[in-house]
Formats: sequence, C-alpha cells, structure tokens
Amino acid sequence: MEPWLIYLIVGLYGLLTGSFLNVVIYRLPRRIPFGMQRSKCPSCSALITWYQNIPLVSYLFLRGRCANCRTRISLRYPLVEVVTALLFMGLFWHFGLTLDFLIAVVLASALIAVFLIDYDHQIIPDRITIPGMVLGLGVAFAPGGLTIWQAAIGLLVGGGSLYLIALLGDWLFKKESMGGGDIKLAAMLGAFLGWQKVLFIFVASAAIGLVVSIGIMVVSSKFRRERVIPFGPFLALAALVALMFGDRLIDYYVTTFVLVR
Ligand SMILES: [Zn+2]
Repeated sequence: MEPWLIYLIVGLYGLLTGSFLNVVIYRLPRRIPFGMQRSKCPSCSALITWYQNIPLVSYLFLRGRCANCRTRISLRYPLVEVVTALLFMGLFWHFGLTLDFLIAVVLASALIAVFLIDYDHQIIPDRITIPGMVLGLGVAFAPGGLTIWQAAIGLLVGGGSLYLIALLGDWLFKKESMGGGDIKLAAMLGAFLGWQKVLFIFVASAAIGLVVSIGIMVVSSKFRRERVIPFGPFLALAALVALMFGDRLIDYYVTTFVLVR
C-alpha cells in the first residue's frame, strides 16, 4: 500500500478516536452512560444527528454553531480531533505498523482524556487508570516491549514514588498536595513504559508544571494562591513526550552523563 494512504487511514482513525474522546471527556466525569444515548447540544438539548457529528467536517460545515439554536460550539471539540489525528500519525511514523504502535495509540488516547478531564474537573477517573494498569501489565506478556517484571517494577516505582511524595507533601503543607488519581496515573504509566521513563516523566512534568505555574502567575492578575493547578495534565503531557521520544532521550542521557565517566 502507498505510504501516504496508510497515513491518511491512520489520520482518519485518529479523527474518529478524537471524536469518541470528546464524548468520554464530557460524559465520564458527569457519570452519563455511554450506551445508546445520543449526544445533545449542551445549550438547547437538540439531538445531534449523525451527519452533524462527522469529525471536523461537521464543525466546519456548521461553521462552529449548533444547527438548532446557533450557540457557538467550543473550538475544543475539533481541536481534540485534530490533535488526536496528528498524534496517531506521529506514533505511526515512530513505531510503524507494530504491536507497540497499537499499545501507544491506546495509551495516548487515555492520556488525552486524562489531560482534559483533570483540567476541567481536577479528577483523574479510576475508570481510566485501573483498567490502564491491568492493560499495561497484560501487554507485557506479549513478545517484544517490556517483560512482565519490568512492567510490574515500573508500576511500583511510578505509584510508589508519587505515594511517598504525597505523604511528604501532606506532612510539610498540612494539606493534601497530591491526589490518589495522580498516584494511580503514575502507576499506570510505569506499567506501560517502565521505571526509567516514569522517572523521566516525573522530572519533565515537574519542569513543565513549574514553567506553566510561573507563567499563569505572571500573566493572570486574577490568580490566587488557593487556586489548585492539577498535576495530571503535566504528567499526561510528559508521558506523551516519553512515549514518542523516551528511548532516544534516555539513550542520550546515558551516553552523555553516565558512560563518559
Ligand atoms: Zn443548540
């Protein structure tokens, strides 16, 4: 098959997955069942027909407004679809048509959902992280990739480190600093990626979190110290970097800082 055709198929699959993720991000934290129920306009409750629900195309065709009440549809919906499609194509470029690619696509989808659910509601649903941990351990039984021991150690290092940081934070600040959701997310990431990449994710997410927090404090006058910035989005972002470039970054670190001595 022509390479461009494969990228097109992967991209279209990404758009469809992104469309599904929009539903997950909206419904999961609100405890709306996924079953038969069709999507409604959040403003006028008009049912959305299948031809108004085609990823990207419908948004452009409707020019970003509800067909019934003309209320503006958030630009976030098509953005999630496009970002998912680009990410899927990037992962395909990196992994090729392999089992690792399929695993990476599932993990990346979960991370997009975690990123936006935590951003919106300051929670990371167990219904993502617990099946995620099980799946991360499960795929380690397949040939290639991590062994089951590496996945199990990754899970313990990921979850355990954040658990210890949470205990330390609670003791230092006398209030909850790190939620259980972050701990379970880190455990899930460890199961999928192994302990080396999970340590990279901690360092990278702390660095991204610091830069963004300072940025918000500088830019926003409304910023108050009590406003909680969730950590999950930074973990998710760093995990996507680790998923795509982790092997190369760890190789670079080892050859530059460890082997030279
Ligand atoms: Zn409407």
